[in-house]
Amino acid sequence: MSKTINRSKPVTSSESDPWAAGLLLRVLVVLAAGLALLAPLGFVPIIPVSTSAVAATQPQSGPALIPLGASTPTPGPLALVNPEPAAFHVIRVGIVAGHVGSDSGAVCPDGLQEVQLNSQIADLVVGMLRARGWNVDLLEEFDERLTGYQADVLLSIHADSCGYAGKTGFKVARAESSYIPGSEDILVSCLSRYYHARTGLPFDANTITFDMTRYHAFYEIDQSTPAAIIETGFMLDDREILVERQDVVALGIVEGLVCFLEGETAP
Ligand SMILES: [Zn+2]
Repeated sequence: MSKTINRSKPVTSSESDPWAAGLLLRVLVVLAAGLALLAPLGFVPIIPVSTSAVAATQPQSGPALIPLGASTPTPGPLALVNPEPAAFHVIRVGIVAGHVGSDSGAVCPDGLQEVQLNSQIADLVVGMLRARGWNVDLLEEFDERLTGYQADVLLSIHADSCGYAGKTGFKVARAESSYIPGSEDILVSCLSRYYHARTGLPFDANTITFDMTRYHAFYEIDQSTPAAIIETGFMLDDREILVERQDVVALGIVEGLVCFLEGETAP
C-alpha cells in the first residue's frame, strides 16, 4: 500500500512512517471533497470521460456545455455528436405507363391492348418503388410533366405487339444520342440483367427500333435525367407472363432500377 503512495508522491518519505501515510490519505480525501463541491459551481473544469457522464453531471440551471436540453438526461452518443440527422436524398423515379392517356398501343386480334398491360405493370412497379420510400411519379405517355423532368431515373414501360409469331423476349434501350451515355449504359445493363434473371425472358437485341432509341420522352426530359425504355415482352408468345405473372415482370423492373440507383445486390 505505502509503495504506491510513495511512487505518486515521493516527497512524503518513508515506508517506516505510518503517520505520514495517514496524513496523505486525509489530504487526498479533503481534496476530493473539495473538487466534488466546486465542480458543480463551475470553479473546476469537468473533463468529459464519456458523453453520458457529461450529460449526467451537467448542471440543470447553468448554460449548457453541449446544445442539448436538460430534458434529455441520457442522450445517445450519436445524438450528442450530430444532433440533427444529415440531410439525405430521397430517390425520385418517373415511370411512364406506355400509351396511357394517349392511345391503345399495339392491339392483338383477340382485343388485348398494349396500354392495358403497360398500365397494370406500371401500377405494380410504382407500388413496389413507393414501398421502398422513394418518390415516384406515375406518368402518362405524353404527360406534360415530362418537359424538363428531373429525377434520378425515368423508365417508360411498353410491350411488343402480337405481330411477330414465334418471337419471344424483351428489350431495353436508351437514347441513341445520349448526354449521359455512361450512366444510361449502366441503367440499360442493370435493367437487362435483372429483368432477364427474374422473368427468364431472353434479351431480344434484334428488334430494337428507332421507336425505342428515338423515343420522344428522351428528348423532352432534363438532360441530366437518366432514362430508358423497356419492351417487356411480345404480346403473343410472351402473353402468359405479361398477363398472368405481372408481379414477376414488375419485380424484374424494380430490381433493375434498384441495381442502378443503389448498386448491385445479387446479379
Ligand atoms: Zn408501345
